[in-house]
Amino acid sequence: MRKAIVAGNWKMNGSGASVSSLVEEFVALRQNGLAGDCDLVDVVMCPPELFIGNVVAMSPAGISLSVGAQNASHELSGAFTGEVSPVMLAEIGCKYVILGHSERRALYAESDAIVASKFAAALKEGLLPILCVGETLQEREAGATIDVVERQLAAVVELCGIAAVAKCVVAYEPVWAIGTGLTASPEQAQDVHKSIRSWVAKQDAAIAAGLQIVYGGSVKSANAKALFACEDIDGGLIGGASLDAKEFAAICQAAGC
Ligand code: PEP
Repeated sequence: MRKAIVAGNWKMNGSGASVSSLVEEFVALRQNGLAGDCDLVDVVMCPPELFIGNVVAMSPAGISLSVGAQNASHELSGAFTGEVSPVMLAEIGCKYVILGHSERRALYAESDAIVASKFAAALKEGLLPILCVGETLQEREAGATIDVVERQLAAVVELCGIAAVAKCVVAYEPVWAIGTGLTASPEQAQDVHKSIRSWVAKQDAAIAAGLQIVYGGSVKSANAKALFACEDIDGGLIGGASLDAKEFAAICQAAGC
């Protein structure tokens, strides 16, 4: 059985004070069994890089709460002004790194090839990528959803090999559902998750069976349970709702049902 996983993508939000209160409140809920059973649901918090150390320091052992970054360089060190290396992220206590988020693809021109090279660098340092894939509204309306998602996955598999997929989480995030309040229906999401698993299974059935595939796109406590009940949806990547400790806890709770 696959363990559920819920990751919070805080994006470029927060201050030292808000990070402290958010983590403190969430940790208390988790310790009281109100944010998903630790045996059933892994939780990941992905703060802005500057606050990663704060969150690591505030995460007690034994509650299955990990910390992730929202991006990483494709290089490990050198003359890359403004970049952050996977080596540094691993050293500071990150376990996961979100790669290929649609905002990075769209706003920072991250191509499939760049995302794949970041994936390779992250793996080298033992970070677990949360690889985001998903179509725009235009691509969905053109019937290209599965082609787009498979193309994004194939770029990683071509560079890193299918075995690398066993060391990542795939996040299906339809671009039209991110931050818009428009959520894919459980049926729409399940269809794509099932296709992703089948695509991986054609190359390695065991890896496909164990692969955690999470859904992201306007997930809230009100819609989480129906999405997470689908056979191939193993949790969520949560943006806006992860900034509210009670709301995020309720989503984690829904993943453990
Ligand atoms: C995201 O940014 O990954 C995301 C899913 O955002 P939201 O939940 O706000 O749609």
